[in-house]
Amino acid sequence: MFLRFRCVKLFSFLFVCLGLLLFHALLLSQHSYAGGPTKGESCRNKGAIGVSRVLEIDTSTGPRYGRVQFKDQLLPLKHKEVVITFDDGPLPSVTKSILRTLKRHCTKATFFAVGKMAKAYPQIIQKVYNEGHTVGAHTHSHPRDLRHHYFPYSRFQIERGFQDVQTATGRPIAPFFRFPGLHDYKEMNDYLSDRHIANFSVDIVPGDTSGYSPARIIRNTLSQLRRRGKGILLLHDIKPATAAALPRLLSALKARGYKIVHIVPRKPFKPIPIALINMLYEDFSHKDPKTIIGGLTYRQLYGGKSAKKAKRAFRQQSHKKRSRKYRGKRYSKRVYGRKRRY
Ligand SMILES: [Zn+2]
Repeated sequence: MFLRFRCVKLFSFLFVCLGLLLFHALLLSQHSYAGGPTKGESCRNKGAIGVSRVLEIDTSTGPRYGRVQFKDQLLPLKHKEVVITFDDGPLPSVTKSILRTLKRHCTKATFFAVGKMAKAYPQIIQKVYNEGHTVGAHTHSHPRDLRHHYFPYSRFQIERGFQDVQTATGRPIAPFFRFPGLHDYKEMNDYLSDRHIANFSVDIVPGDTSGYSPARIIRNTLSQLRRRGKGILLLHDIKPATAAALPRLLSALKARGYKIVHIVPRKPFKPIPIALINMLYEDFSHKDPKTIIGGLTYRQLYGGKSAKKAKRAFRQQSHKKRSRKYRGKRYSKRVYGRKRRY
């Protein structure tokens, strides 16, 4: 009888141990990609918008999403589904306020952090990560327009940006990238695809970098969503007006039946060694026309011109391309007319 009692005790102990192990494994698996758990979290706030579903993004093909840059390549969202994204941060005062609002609404967003900002405020980007949001990268130092730079410099900005954000976070981040000012070019897009990085553009642009009031940011978001029905929303966690607008914006979205989708990567970002990143930069820093860039000499790249002339020609060419691309389109006025920076 005593032996049987001990056996039962032993079995129950083993059972509890197994349970604990399984629970731990579950927690670890949820932390294997960027962002913490999103499912199964209880929400006390009845007016919270929450998260309707988690959308896993397979980045192995280097996909591109968003209407503004990639017209037909939209994120697979259903009607009235919205993905919230924040660029340019983290900035303690604003990002903290945004995190509080998101927590109150039990919802999740994606943060495209700038490498230098993440390095300056590592505790904030760690907080973003630990609260279960997805963390991606938005270059190392946010150059205004990468199309005005050589390919190796752009490549360095991307790799160094990811490296900085990942080091500051201390955890694997998402292979999600967004171009500063949404200024992409073919060579860079191809490079991102080769690196298995998802290239995110936007669908809904309320223009919170233009100094608009919180009321106007809300109005712009809702009117664009009424037209489009769904999409990736672009906000900035460096703008106090955005932080001020967010509580009312989320309530307004909920009242109108919109649902928030949390995007997460299937696999985390794979960084390349820091030595190689520095090499990429040194590659750029040479001004010698004989320097090889991306396997090609300046001569091969720019048709026999000197480095200085080549640089000027490249700039002029991209200016021409830019004006041709946007001539007569609605976005010419909106994006370039006012020199707006995303
Ligand atoms: Zn930006």
